[in-house]
Amino acid sequence: MNTFEEHESEVRGYCRNFPAVFASAKGAWMTDTKGRRHLDFFCGAGVLNYGHNPDKIKQALMAYLMRDGITHTLDMYSEAKEAFIRGFNEVILQPRGLSYKFQFPGPTGTNAVEAALKLARKVTGREQVVGFTNAFHGMTLGALSVTGNGFKRAGAGVPLSHAASMPFDGYMGADTDTLDFFESMLVDNGSGMDIPAAVIVETVQAEGGVNVASAAWLRRLRDITQRHGIVLIVDDIQVGCGRTGRFFSFEEAGIVPDIVTLSKSLSGYGLPLALVLIKPEMDQWAPGEHNGTFRGHCPAFVTATAALGYWRNTLLQDSVDRKSAMVEERLDQMLRQQGVTATVRGRGLIQGVEFAEPTLAAHISKACFERGLIIETAGIDDQVLKLLPSLTIKEDELMHGLDIIETSLRAVLSPALRKAA
Ligand SMILES: *Cc1c(COP(=O)(O)O)cnc(C)c1O
Repeated sequence: MNTFEEHESEVRGYCRNFPAVFASAKGAWMTDTKGRRHLDFFCGAGVLNYGHNPDKIKQALMAYLMRDGITHTLDMYSEAKEAFIRGFNEVILQPRGLSYKFQFPGPTGTNAVEAALKLARKVTGREQVVGFTNAFHGMTLGALSVTGNGFKRAGAGVPLSHAASMPFDGYMGADTDTLDFFESMLVDNGSGMDIPAAVIVETVQAEGGVNVASAAWLRRLRDITQRHGIVLIVDDIQVGCGRTGRFFSFEEAGIVPDIVTLSKSLSGYGLPLALVLIKPEMDQWAPGEHNGTFRGHCPAFVTATAALGYWRNTLLQDSVDRKSAMVEERLDQMLRQQGVTATVRGRGLIQGVEFAEPTLAAHISKACFERGLIIETAGIDDQVLKLLPSLTIKEDELMHGLDIIETSLRAVLSPALRKAA
């Protein structure tokens, strides 16, 4: 029994799938205490979009620490926060024609979601919020109330109320527009559904199995929410910060949400930082009405400001488009060659493979780990293999990872599994 098994709670999760003790990391690679190198196609569930310890960001952080730049200020003004707000406005919001107020909640994603839900309820005076099937928004009670996963919901130990679940795009099959149902529920006074305060949506459900909402569906959702005065919250915690190839995942659809939540890759370095972007007219918070001790961590502001460098030109964005096409092509090719029934879906550098045989994804993930590749599964039954490489990964590293997936796929396809698939 190791230290972790002996002392750490049974609640520990990812370490069970990737049982190495990690010591250092650079770019797309992680090194364990035995000196073994692992290629990272998981990236801390989307925290490390720019790879591990990127040099430019690290240098900015080191310089800040070395000059005794202030680390903690609660939510008092700091030079680091000012530089981030100015930089984010100049590099991200203004060029996209967006105008939002910044709220820094506690530093995790679920904190941003809680703040967004509270504010939507306050602004509208309504109680109900709508989430979608297979959604994932975090583990605190409000976020959990709009999360789909029954196992995680049961962990709450109390009823998760004032929330309703609607079918996500594609949930009723390709031929049904699930928003027909949602809209009927809203307009029909006999539906039994109250007009909600907010709808919270992921444009690509990452934890839920890499389910992609179409641009048309998102535009219609924006239209419906607008017409009924419902606050539209886009939870861009996992697929924002460039994961889909644009800084915000909703850019492609051309919609403007009322509230956007960001966290995971926002600091660009794996330091905890969360942000709620609020349409100015909806910023109806009273001073201190939602607070927290770690609201904006100065070293994370410094790294987040340095990370904006990736968005001053289109080099990263273009490389994501290129690498995304490479991944899709290679996955299609290996599935065809191996005669496996599966669907490949995703946007940018979040790609999922859903196998007809649901246990295959977990077997492949395990086989990949044995061969030096960290790759996770997603979906309610872990039936989807989820590729989440860093956006900055080199093309030969990307190909190397895809080689490992192909070898692993071949290895786990025993004749019996091949038949079932
Ligand atoms: C990870 C995630 C969260 C929760 O973030 P935490 O930092 O784990 O609290 C919320 N929404 C989405 C879409 C996520 O992927």
